[in-house]
Amino acid sequence: MIMGATRGDVSAGLIDTHCHVDLYPDPAAVAGLSERLGVRTIAVTNSPFVFDHTRALAERARYLYPAVGLHPQLVASRSHEVGRLVALLDSTRFVGEVGLDYTSIDPEDHRLQRKVFARILGACAEHGDKVITVHSRRAAPDVIDAVGGSFPGKVILHWYSGTVKDLDRALKNGAYISVNTAMISSKKSLALVSRVPADRILTETDGPFITVGQKPAVPSDVNLVVERLAEMWRVDAEEASHVIRSNFDEVIAGDG
Ligand SMILES: [Zn+2]
Repeated sequence: MIMGATRGDVSAGLIDTHCHVDLYPDPAAVAGLSERLGVRTIAVTNSPFVFDHTRALAERARYLYPAVGLHPQLVASRSHEVGRLVALLDSTRFVGEVGLDYTSIDPEDHRLQRKVFARILGACAEHGDKVITVHSRRAAPDVIDAVGGSFPGKVILHWYSGTVKDLDRALKNGAYISVNTAMISSKKSLALVSRVPADRILTETDGPFITVGQKPAVPSDVNLVVERLAEMWRVDAEEASHVIRSNFDEVIAGDG
């Protein structure tokens, strides 16, 4: 059984914009936890062929937003799945995990990732109202270039770890930054986060890949991030939580 932190001060209306719900041993339990605690959770997926399972979970939930994705590190072996992802854009507003990852040093892999990401962004732009959670490890400049300054949707840079210069560029283009518990334990990440205007910050767990204590982070663990942001902003946790909630409302309100 997975237990979540339930500290009373900020537990109402928390936001987790990047959680791999399908990759926990018991996805239904994680979805149930978000539901019980009212944590609005974007359930990202790494391949369009596992999307149906998450969509089915979300059909029974008020707080789970199923996202269709194709993880950049899977593109080398699964680039052919992009067509399936594009077809599924009719079924959800939420897209992720997508993006670029240059951890591999194979330029051909990078080229293929850019091609796939461009196709996904193009298809999302045609829809016009997508909310995309984007991975950019060691590839922030190319991710920011690919999205550009006039993308008709909302882009959330998940676990941003690039330079200050690229961060400023992304913010100028309208991006949101989602902050997780690993980032609040890193001086470098905190320095980046402190540059981001409060109205562009969101919270995420990236669970189950990030652990809190000995356990995989669960959506309600974003309260740890909220508390750290509150400290940074010199407000109380309830106020910080309210800011994150308003930002998320803005993200899902759409441009129309
Ligand atoms: Zn992720």
